[in-house]
Amino acid sequence: MSKQEEKKRTSVERYMLKHEIDKLESKKSFNMSTSLVSLYIPPGTRLSDVNSQLRDEYGTATNIKDKSTGKAVQSALSSIMSRMKTISDPGENGIVIFCGITQTNKVEFFLISPPDPVGIKLYLCDNVFKIDHLKEMLESKQRYGLLLIERGGATLATVQGSRIDIIREEESYVPGKHKMGGQSQARFQRLTEEAAQRWYTKITEIMNTVYLDDYPVEAIIVGGPALTKSEFLENKSLDYRLREKVIGTYDIGYRGINGIRELLEKAEDKLSDFELIKERKLIQKFLEHLGKDTGLVTYGEKLVLEALEKSAVQTVIVSEDVDRVNIEIKCDGCDYEITESVKSRDYNEFVKNLSDRKCPQCSNSKLYIENESDLITELNEKAENTGATLEVISTDHEDGAMLYNVFGGIAATLRYKLFDGY
Ligand SMILES: [Zn+2]
Repeated sequence: MSKQEEKKRTSVERYMLKHEIDKLESKKSFNMSTSLVSLYIPPGTRLSDVNSQLRDEYGTATNIKDKSTGKAVQSALSSIMSRMKTISDPGENGIVIFCGITQTNKVEFFLISPPDPVGIKLYLCDNVFKIDHLKEMLESKQRYGLLLIERGGATLATVQGSRIDIIREEESYVPGKHKMGGQSQARFQRLTEEAAQRWYTKITEIMNTVYLDDYPVEAIIVGGPALTKSEFLENKSLDYRLREKVIGTYDIGYRGINGIRELLEKAEDKLSDFELIKERKLIQKFLEHLGKDTGLVTYGEKLVLEALEKSAVQTVIVSEDVDRVNIEIKCDGCDYEITESVKSRDYNEFVKNLSDRKCPQCSNSKLYIENESDLITELNEKAENTGATLEVISTDHEDGAMLYNVFGGIAATLRYKLFDGY
């Protein structure tokens, strides 16, 4: 997968994670003892080290005073250890595992490949799963580029949520501006300006590599002394795609992490507006097509699925509130079947209640789940197969709420006209 594709997937991945977190949040240990295991494995961890730690913990669990708790911890650990055998590498973002005997009285196992790198190494037993660190990932949405540019040097950084990474620090040998007087002033100034332009070109070239290929960013904020910033942005060698992404410039007096922190502080409002604006733009584009009757949009679950099947969709826009699971239920004793939809947060409750329900057709047999699918996952798979993009939109803003309330939370822009009569 290319970096660009990776970036496109993030709003979906974040939705999936949210979905998992909702599920995990509802789990408790079967007897409220501290027997549920949470295991965070950062990228680059040697799995053999994790395995030997798990074996140690297994041994230690025999010392737990309450025998049923000790046994529960051990069964969680054996489940984890047997699953670890099928994993050869923690992957580029690491993995997170949750396991234990929950209120269902069964060992439940969850493996999460998070959308952002796991930042901590953690083994923990508690009566609930430890999900704070996953929740933090939900907050960090998009990656932004931060550049500090002075005549004396530059700092390139990225920020994603609360995580700041310094990507490059460069020093320059451009002389300061006002060092000399008299006759040689003019010549000195000309040489200085030439050196400054070479320095700016060098930094734009680094930016092109860093912010387009290595760490693709949604937007760029530039900081530095007042004049230097504008001189720099006038340099022609900055790729036009990056130039379009510069959404703000700020006066910052110094470089390095402290300068980056100051820049981030000053740009905070601009960045949060930016995320909002991106979502609103998608919806505005949809509304514009609808208003002009171009035939290049459609909405509603049925029509969007139909358009996806015809490979006609460019972008699917889904409200995050459409977190619905379709459950196909069948009867054990007759041919009764029905598909019901539940919110993903109500899923556990639904499954629990199902065992008490009787078949309305033959009344005494048991109902079971034949199949289940989550709507956003299903839309995403179909979108991926046909080269369409899927964007999950929050309902925190007016346009997002309208998408949900007026259009059923699902809309799409199309590559070509599909339906007659539009
Ligand atoms: Zn029946």
